[in-house]
Amino acid sequence: MSDQPPISFLDLPRQQARLGDALRRRIDTVLSHCRFVMGPEIEELETRLCAYSGAKHAVSVSSGTDALLIVLMAEEIGPGDAVFLPAFTYTATAEVVLLLGATPVFVDVDPRSFQIDPGSLKARIASIRAQGELEPRLVIGVDLFGQPAPWAQLREIAQEEALLLVADCAQAFGAALEGRKLGREAVATTLSFFPSKPLGAYGDGGAILTDDEERAALYRSLRTHGEGRSRYEVLRIGLNGRLDTLQAAILLAKLDVFDEELERRNDVAERYDTGLAGLVETPLRVPESESAWAIYSILLPDRAQRDSLQRFLSGCGVPSVVYYPKPLHAQPAYREHHDETVSLPVSEGLGARILALPLHPELRDDEVARVIDAVRRWHEQEMGK
Ligand SMILES: *Cc1c(COP(=O)(O)O)cnc(C)c1O
Repeated sequence: MSDQPPISFLDLPRQQARLGDALRRRIDTVLSHCRFVMGPEIEELETRLCAYSGAKHAVSVSSGTDALLIVLMAEEIGPGDAVFLPAFTYTATAEVVLLLGATPVFVDVDPRSFQIDPGSLKARIASIRAQGELEPRLVIGVDLFGQPAPWAQLREIAQEEALLLVADCAQAFGAALEGRKLGREAVATTLSFFPSKPLGAYGDGGAILTDDEERAALYRSLRTHGEGRSRYEVLRIGLNGRLDTLQAAILLAKLDVFDEELERRNDVAERYDTGLAGLVETPLRVPESESAWAIYSILLPDRAQRDSLQRFLSGCGVPSVVYYPKPLHAQPAYREHHDETVSLPVSEGLGARILALPLHPELRDDEVARVIDAVRRWHEQEMGK
């Protein structure tokens, strides 16, 4: 057992202390104007999100899940439509498809980058077309763990197959591909500001980025009950899907330090890479990219060793998390929506071998060293067996 205080997997109290007055000033401003819904901070945040990502339009919404839902509603995705998405992701990516009555078609991922596998995507599209029951409509690429999906290949496939391409960037706001921040890789890019994401609010929040003016207008209408030009003109069925002003205010304070935080995240990741080399498989970098380092996942040879390392770390006060223990198509909620004759072997195997180590901007150098040291001691113990 460790006599040192446990390390936090996510350290919001330390971040709050670092942000200090700036955060409180932002909150106080909202308390003084009392425009809690669609207050001035909403437009300010949307302008900042455009400037940061390079996207022409940003529409803030109530969560990353609602962002995806609104994007699919705007494309009138519904019964009979096939939406292709990776099996190895968070449930939100797939649940919106079923909420609209459409069918999620699960695609396998790459064994080392964990990103959607373009070869598996092509095969899944071909088999759905051959079956002739569903109409292929849309692909959702996920920037998993903070790294970019293979966007160039996804765009090529989407174009060849005449499918729409949407980016679920919930875990990767701040990441870059070929020197360009994510946000313009697909027709629409959805963000989440859930507290544990790289840019996190103090509650739920999200946004949609797009370069398409008509789609942006549609997203704005859908997030506010399908309203038209005036408040009581109802053009379509929509949602109560707005971001709270208070959350926008908090995000504005956090955006001021976001790039410094990304640098620190990257610094921690590099320390892990160096310190853990030869002990475990460290995350493969997507070429020409900068990760937002939402999650730093290592790979172990098998379930027994992964579980053994997780127990050892826990005894050293080092938390770790398995993202994701089960791929979506094997989950009770999705099983009946997946053709059981189709296996997705990489997604099915990763859950047994993967383990995420703590990575956040508040992690101090001595804590990073403690994590590395704990893995090294576990490795020595394993070698001695
Ligand atoms: C977090 C997450 C979402 C959902 O975002 P919420 O803001 O929690 O609704 C969607 N997709 C992925 C990949 C996520 O990690």
